[in-house]
Amino acid sequence: MSDSSEPWLDAVLQANARFRERIRPEGLPVQRAPGTVAVITCMDPRVNLEAIGIPQFAADGGGNSAIRVIRTIGGMADTRSLVIGMFLAGVREFAVLMHTDCGCCLAYSRVGTIMENMEKRLDPDRLRAFRDTVGEPFRENLRTWLKAFEDPRDAVQQEVADIRALPFMPRDVAVHGLVYELSSGRVEVVVNGYEHASEA
Ligand SMILES: [Zn+2]
Repeated sequence: MSDSSEPWLDAVLQANARFRERIRPEGLPVQRAPGTVAVITCMDPRVNLEAIGIPQFAADGGGNSAIRVIRTIGGMADTRSLVIGMFLAGVREFAVLMHTDCGCCLAYSRVGTIMENMEKRLDPDRLRAFRDTVGEPFRENLRTWLKAFEDPRDAVQQEVADIRALPFMPRDVAVHGLVYELSSGRVEVVVNGYEHASEA
């Protein structure tokens, strides 16, 4: 639900009607653009992908990127996307793009708030089932389960290592680790995947 009294779904449909009045349908990218690279990044909308060469959609609805984008909190790899990306869509190179002031840093420092809110929102059976899934000690295990982290540079190094260790990862696939600084828009290379690709 949005903050306004109007249900969000109504606003979605109104926005869609305005969109369809404005765009040229023949300008929409219906064909899938071939692409061999994918970026795994955070769902935080402050991470502007124009910073790494992914254009916004144009006003007429046109414009399409050949770069596949996988967005999850923290910029953690979704293994399904990796498998389908590499073995069906032809992706041969990945960049993990994490960022400063990530929600995963907040989740690390405020894991107690997450626990309190779960206790308020979940009925006891659900909470117990989730605690069983995560295991005890719950607070420490929840941090790990969430992949919460303190420092995005350390986290991106760990994530690249974890991706490279997955049993379905071909050794010649380059996996880069990048950090986007929200305050400046600068992208820092923490791991250059070309230096590791093809290593046994
Ligand atoms: Zn984030």
